[in-house]
Amino acid sequence: MKYVSTRGQAPELTFEEAMLSGLARDGGLYVPSEIPTLSKTDIAAMADLSYEEIALRVMTPFIGDTFTEERFSDLIAKAYSGFGHAARAPLVQLDSNHFLLELFHGPTLAFKDFAMQLIGQLFQDALTRRGEQVTIVGATSGDTGSAAIEAFRGLDAVNVFIMFPDGRVSDVQRRQMTTPADANVHALAVEGDFDNCQAAVKDMFNDFDFRDGVKLAGVNSINWARVLAQVVYYFSSAVSLGAPHREVSFTVPTGNFGDIFAGYIAKRMGLPIDKLVVATNQNDILHRCLTSGAYQTSGVVPSISPSMDIQVSSNFERALFNAYGRDGAAVAQLMDELKQGGGFNVSQGALQALREDFASGRVSEDETSAMIAEAFKTTGEVLCPHSAIGVKVANAHLGTTPMITLATAHPAKFPAAVEAACGIHPPLPTRMANLFDLPERMTQVPNDVSAIQTLIRERI
Ligand SMILES: *Cc1c(COP(=O)(O)O)cnc(C)c1O
Repeated sequence: MKYVSTRGQAPELTFEEAMLSGLARDGGLYVPSEIPTLSKTDIAAMADLSYEEIALRVMTPFIGDTFTEERFSDLIAKAYSGFGHAARAPLVQLDSNHFLLELFHGPTLAFKDFAMQLIGQLFQDALTRRGEQVTIVGATSGDTGSAAIEAFRGLDAVNVFIMFPDGRVSDVQRRQMTTPADANVHALAVEGDFDNCQAAVKDMFNDFDFRDGVKLAGVNSINWARVLAQVVYYFSSAVSLGAPHREVSFTVPTGNFGDIFAGYIAKRMGLPIDKLVVATNQNDILHRCLTSGAYQTSGVVPSISPSMDIQVSSNFERALFNAYGRDGAAVAQLMDELKQGGGFNVSQGALQALREDFASGRVSEDETSAMIAEAFKTTGEVLCPHSAIGVKVANAHLGTTPMITLATAHPAKFPAAVEAACGIHPPLPTRMANLFDLPERMTQVPNDVSAIQTLIRERI
């Protein structure tokens, strides 16, 4: 299995190389050169398997000979052993035909643990074998950073620097990043928004002297290995509702398009998925684009669902690559227009292709709060604001096909918004009840790439 860049100008890589590098050297994102499929029989056989066994079967065709089956199986087992639920990704029923996929039972209480815990294991194993060290630099709107720090803390093969927008993450998110005492962890509070942080990461990857000098590795959702790890729960949940004999749909609270793109991969692999519904908050560039074809950035407006406060949705590039018939030059041109003029128009043909797989909806701040209150009243389920956006959009797309909405974070990660909406103060699970007693450690940095690069060089 080879990996190719969405912009067509970077060398093909193996799974391990793509995982360890992150962004392609032409600025593109790595995607598999072809998508392996599973037969109906393969999928039906998953009904009897644990989450870990399903993970092994779904991911193995993508990894080539990077890990032996036995080794890969061990690493998967380790990755999910710290989860607070035996099923890892349990389904809860909300209504006769609507289900919630709880993806928040990992160590930092958001779905990002599914990918990050696994990547931590895979990096450590691969780097130890190669005798190498890397510098991980990541941008976060809150959850990626805490998940990355939790996954990489204390590993000797890795230094991890996480940039987050100062003052724009919740207290729980910030403390999850600033309280780990391990010397290889560096939390950087950037004077700017998430898009500034993400742009800084991309600039560092495109600065080849720096990139090669510090052996830069990326674990943002631009890293293919992260997308791959997320494909698994589409299979596990669909199978428990009757796939492959019954179709299902998914609604996914979306920012960077990584999680929902994993659903698209599951569909291409043969999982019978009817609709993949994109749910956005007021930062609705994806909804506007799927509605009108115009992908136009307009500045981030902070919301009560901060992990989706994004206007440059990196993984959408992967969807565009497919919608444009895997034409890297066409994608490179769109990304150039985005960089020069803040937007681009998707061609009619590509828009039609996107709409065959993706529907969308947008939820305002007031609607988000109202949905948290309504769900609590009608089901007793306390939703985080991101998950509430998913449920609200899903409600508008319910039909005869079972709908699975992804609950992307635990409500205790966003206690202020949840309490304001439904009067319940969601408690942290007991395993992290001391979070507010630990000392914090972070460095404030300006929104200036070269200043941040200097700091990184000094620290490693
Ligand atoms: C990251 C995140 C999202 C958005 O996921 P993408 O893969 O960026 O689309 C949604 N909800 C929560 C809680 C998140 O942490």
